[in-house]
Amino acid sequence: MAFRAVHEQWGTVFAHLPDLGCGRSWADVHRVRPPAPLRCDECRHPMRAKVSPTKLRFFAHAPGAPDCAAAGESLAHHLLKLELATAARAAGAEAEMEVRGPAGAWRADVMASDPAGAWRIALEAQLSPIPPEEIQARAARMSEDGVRSVWFSDRPRPPWLGRVPSVRLERGEDGGLLVAEGLAKFAGDWWEQGPRAPLTQFLQWVFAGRVVPHRRKRPVSYPLEPRTVLWTAPSYIRAENAFLLEAERRAREDEQRRRQQEQHRANIEALLERQAALRGPAVRFVREETGTTLTPFADEPDPAFAMGVPVYLGDRPYAVICPVAGRMATARDRLDGLVLIVASETEQRRVAAQAAPKQRVVVLEPDPEIPALIPRQAQPDSIMVRQAVTHMLGLDRM
Ligand SMILES: [Zn+2]
Repeated sequence: MAFRAVHEQWGTVFAHLPDLGCGRSWADVHRVRPPAPLRCDECRHPMRAKVSPTKLRFFAHAPGAPDCAAAGESLAHHLLKLELATAARAAGAEAEMEVRGPAGAWRADVMASDPAGAWRIALEAQLSPIPPEEIQARAARMSEDGVRSVWFSDRPRPPWLGRVPSVRLERGEDGGLLVAEGLAKFAGDWWEQGPRAPLTQFLQWVFAGRVVPHRRKRPVSYPLEPRTVLWTAPSYIRAENAFLLEAERRAREDEQRRRQQEQHRANIEALLERQAALRGPAVRFVREETGTTLTPFADEPDPAFAMGVPVYLGDRPYAVICPVAGRMATARDRLDGLVLIVASETEQRRVAAQAAPKQRVVVLEPDPEIPALIPRQAQPDSIMVRQAVTHMLGLDRM
């Protein structure tokens, strides 16, 4: 059944319009002899004007019709089309039933258009089951011709809902149609269901661009989870974008902080290894340089010596192994007059830049075999040197 047919002389006629859309009346086509020369707009098969038991006027294919899209439509589908057209007009649009696209590429149930000609939106009543891919393809074909589409269903949960711009309709208590599902709002960091709205109200929003279809990026809460396309206000889309930008910025910062920590740890590991590898050479250096009978003794990394390892001769520090350049300013008095021992010329430059004028900074060849870093004495409260250094540098509090 259809609301539209083509009359041999008058052109297109509409069953739902009082003057058939061409200045005639229903009595001119209904129950006339000979039958009015009406044909289907789709398949050109003859059509008859009919009235349903509920007084709905429509055109039906005469017996023997070929397979035709217009022939297979149900009464429910036709009623919904009529209601969509009525709601579209109430929302301020012009509405035409059963409009064919260029070269018959598509056929819109109701074509709502801006009276000023700014836009066209197809309103599709989709009651029969249809694979999501097919409905996406149909929406895409319309889109190629500059026609947006909104798909309506009154079924509980068709699988294509939310795959294209679509809403689920329910009959309200006053008998009018309500958009029960499809509107959503962005609530902080996810989407949730928006308000129910009368169909006419919803269409007003759509026509004015106050709600738009949006392919969401953040999750959506029950009952909209399977939906990827939601109807929402542009401000909520901006809120989602802002949220995503902020999340990205935080992730970048976290990553940067993680890398800095990693670098800091690696620097400490390297420092501890350098110091360990220089203990033997430093002790030998001090012994040879002083020619003393005392045995030089290398202690642990010490904050008082800019995290360097002091080498004692008796009870007096003589040298410091690898002080940390960045910490030398606060330990300058303690370091004054001591020999600073480092492992490379690069380190020498770095340390010399922070040392007192004329302070000796000596490069020694590290031991190729690095002694294991173990506590000097296994006392009950002793902790690993590495832990101690980590603690002293505040790394465990980062
Ligand atoms: Zn037909």
